[in-house]
Amino acid sequence: MTKQYDYELIAIGGGSGGLSVAERAASYGIKCAVVESGKMGGTCVNVGCVPKKVMWFGANLAHALKDAQDYGFDVENRGFDWQQLVTKRDDYIKGINSWYHTYLADSNIDEIQGFASFIDAHTLDVDGKRYTAKHIVVSPGTKPMVPDIPGAELGITSDGFFELQDMPKQVAIVGSGYIAVELAGVLNSLGADVCMYLRKEHVLRSFDAMLRESLLEEMLDSGIDIMSRTQLVEIRQEADGKLTLVDEKGRENSGFDQLIWAIGRDPNTEGMKLDAAGIAVDEQGYIPTDKFQKTNVDHIFALGDVTGRAPLTPVAIAAGRRLADRLYNNQVDRHLDYSLVPTVVFSHPPIGTVGLTEEDAREQHGEAVKVYQTRFTAMYNALTRHKVQTAMKLVCVGAQEKVIGCHVIGPGADEMMQGFAVAIRMGATKKDLDDTIAIHPTSSEELVTMR
Ligand code: FAD
Ligand code: NDP
Repeated sequence: MTKQYDYELIAIGGGSGGLSVAERAASYGIKCAVVESGKMGGTCVNVGCVPKKVMWFGANLAHALKDAQDYGFDVENRGFDWQQLVTKRDDYIKGINSWYHTYLADSNIDEIQGFASFIDAHTLDVDGKRYTAKHIVVSPGTKPMVPDIPGAELGITSDGFFELQDMPKQVAIVGSGYIAVELAGVLNSLGADVCMYLRKEHVLRSFDAMLRESLLEEMLDSGIDIMSRTQLVEIRQEADGKLTLVDEKGRENSGFDQLIWAIGRDPNTEGMKLDAAGIAVDEQGYIPTDKFQKTNVDHIFALGDVTGRAPLTPVAIAAGRRLADRLYNNQVDRHLDYSLVPTVVFSHPPIGTVGLTEEDAREQHGEAVKVYQTRFTAMYNALTRHKVQTAMKLVCVGAQEKVIGCHVIGPGADEMMQGFAVAIRMGATKKDLDDTIAIHPTSSEELVTMR
């Protein structure tokens, strides 16, 4: 390493992006450090994927308890202890946090606790102490948005959801993206009355129409109220502590004991003094990078959610690892290809999706697009009173019918998509799927038997 710097690499943010670039760099013998102002693990571990998935598992058990009766079990759901679930969830996360400290030490990565801001393009200030590095990776993630309307502070965001010590009984969820539908599903399954406020018609706007429409039907069917085309303009707290929501037409809805804002996230760069290093941001505050994660400053890179591209944990991890491979392992063209990113929405039922929506495919490829789809009730639900629909779609293009989109909603969709994503990335055609022997009896076999 060039002698004048304290480190070859400093990553700002101990989340999915910062940790992964440091881990990979350290594996090549690079002297590096991670600066973290909060808890090690970042959003995913502390207030994202991990606690969310625990709650989702809990919600699934609530459904399983009901279904168990239909399978002949003499069971009765005599109550649900939110606090017990939350305590066990938080203990699990504490275990991950402390594992990180050991892991970083074992990997020869210095952990710097505190808030990093730039002094110049090679120097950081962390709570009054200076650190220099040859390469700096900016990976501070994003933070939840709260609208600028009177009373907005009476609501919470997903961060606040994970702090709840009691289950709210009457909940309004504002928003229509991943977090809104996931939290709505969890709370509804665990017994809360949930009302979703959408400013437009649909949830998950950028997803395939089949997924959007099926999820909306399932949510309505499971008892979630949906207020579409409703924009809130004011939140009021009444004398009994309950919240009243006022929309732009002056309509009022009262009686909520919790309001969750799930309307998107902003880049988390406030106070970092990016301008001291000359780092450019776009009009929304995201840090643009080239395909090698390089910002406009040659030796400064940005990773993960702060780049505004595919804000998902495995994307941040993959980008970080590839960056370290390129910088420190001579893999000169190594970079992340952001196309064909598979993703799962842990809604009830879950969604698994990869590639182009039918709409986007038709826009890009016109008449060359051929779509295969199916809708059915999975065998599991043959015996249950509560039926959940499964829907699947393959979007293919050209004479070879190359699969360019695969969309599934229904039980098991979350675990189905990873393997199909591999096949699609490798250029699978419809014939390749047809030539693959089905696994019977499963729901996923429909993806290789569709006509
Ligand atoms: P983060 O993980 O946010 O890490 C950034 C870190 O930087 C934070 O720990 C922060 O404290 C720290 N930091 C910020 N500024 C500074 C500073 N100046 N100095 C020092 N430290 C700083 N993705 C999935 O793939 N699957 C899921 O199921 C999933 N579920 C989610 C559920 C929720 C509720 C949320 C909010 C997100 C979810 N995500 C999920 C998205 C996923 O969490 C993010 O894509 C991922 O965490 C991004 O990683 P990152 O490194 O870019 O940022
Ligand atoms: P999203 O971007 O997914 O969705 C937010 C949506 O809320 C917008 O698309 C918009 O939809 C709607 N919205 C925006 N402003 C308002 C407003 N003022 N009032 C009402 N609705 C509004 O954001 P999330 O916060 O849900 O999630 C952030 C990201 O985190 C996701 O994009 C995803 O990448 C990641 N994540 C991943 C998960 C997973 O992998 N399972 C789970 C959770 C998060 P419209 O324009 O249609 O109104």
